[in-house]
Amino acid sequence: MRVLVLGAGFGGLELSSRLSEALGDDVDVTLIDQADSFVFGFAKLDVMFGKREPDAVRLHYSDIAKPGVRFLREAITAIDPVGKRVTTDRDSYEADVLVVALGADLDPGATPGLLERGNEYYTVPGAERLRDVLPSFEGGSAIVGVCGDTFKCPPAPSEAALLLDGYLRDRGRRDAAQIQLVIPFGKPIPPSPETSAALLEAFSERGIEFVPNHRVAALKDGAAVLDDGRRLPYDLFLGIPVHRVPAVVEASGMTEHGWIPVDPGTLQTRFPDVYAVGDVTSVGTPKAGMFAEGAAVVVADELIARARGQESPLRYDGKGACYIEFGADEVARVDVDFFSTPGRPTSTWVPPSIHTAEEKAAFSRSRSARWFGAS
Ligand SMILES: Cc1cc2nc3c(=O)[nH]c(=O)nc-3n(C[C@H](O)[C@H](O)[C@H](O)COP(=O)(O)OP(=O)(O)OC[C@H]3O[C@@H](n4cnc5c(N)ncnc54)[C@H](O)[C@@H]3O)c2cc1C
Repeated sequence: MRVLVLGAGFGGLELSSRLSEALGDDVDVTLIDQADSFVFGFAKLDVMFGKREPDAVRLHYSDIAKPGVRFLREAITAIDPVGKRVTTDRDSYEADVLVVALGADLDPGATPGLLERGNEYYTVPGAERLRDVLPSFEGGSAIVGVCGDTFKCPPAPSEAALLLDGYLRDRGRRDAAQIQLVIPFGKPIPPSPETSAALLEAFSERGIEFVPNHRVAALKDGAAVLDDGRRLPYDLFLGIPVHRVPAVVEASGMTEHGWIPVDPGTLQTRFPDVYAVGDVTSVGTPKAGMFAEGAAVVVADELIARARGQESPLRYDGKGACYIEFGADEVARVDVDFFSTPGRPTSTWVPPSIHTAEEKAAFSRSRSARWFGAS
């Protein structure tokens, strides 16, 4: 079976690893990504606050050595979901099964002024620039602002606000600064009331102003302009840019309302033998690594069963977790189950602790080892 996996992020890496583990050389997996390395999303927070060097957070695709898997560093320029054919900047490839795991792209240009007068920490270069900008922020108004309706890692804006608070306290500058957090939801983490309550309490204790139900539409004349026209003056802006599918996915005709629709149980698209996992889909779970990984497991197990002539064992359950940095080296966790009770996600809140910070570090090490053989 020839499987083309488009994108080597959380979804593509887990899918290829699992296929290789189960089928070895009996499967022919081609994993394509335009980048030379993978970086955990949460590592960008470490880079931004100067805790880790950018080179230290990169996991190089050249280290992937798995039976049945070849990695190609190529940019995908066209996807034909009917012919299961993919064109890159180097060649073209055909497959029996196509899995689209190309994630969500950022579009900072969609928010007027963001590129010229703001910062973002959702890319490694953006986080790296902020690492150089933050030490010169001595006081004034700082805004962490979400610019679109949907974005990766729902806790990441709250994490940035809490970590900025801690960073300024450590430098003795907190009293000279105000921090505001603008997000498009009514609560920090809508599917988990307990998590939202804990975050709101932490914001209130630390003097972080929560500005719900709004997006930042533009940066103009020294102010963040919200979607209702309200102006919030700022000296430092940390933005979460508008997210969209990569242009090549949009051009493929696979999207509806901006994202690829899939059967939530099987992750199949409307094209036979074409699957999509992770942030590129509208499956109904958050755009977060653990959810992409969970979806990839289901597709992998379906393909493994098919290769062995067995029934597919699993359906996607929409369960996953997000770690939340609270500052002072403490990390919380929220586990959410999106599908068991239709229309009503259920969640479990694990309060911040050093223990959960260690668990997060172990999670990161386990994926590095599993996907890259790194220690
Ligand atoms: C600041 C921040 C903090 C985060 N914290 C967490 C966290 O604590 N926990 C968590 O679970 N998630 C977190 N996330 C979210 C997580 O990183 C993503 O949700 C996850 O990576 C999605 O996996 P994916 O496989 O769908 O896509 P991705 O991991 O984004 O992978 C997509 C891949 O496709 C490649 N690609 C795109 N277009 C092309 C093309 N045309 N040609 C070739 N290759 C292409 C990209 O290079 C990329 O490697 C965070 C994200 C950010 C930005």
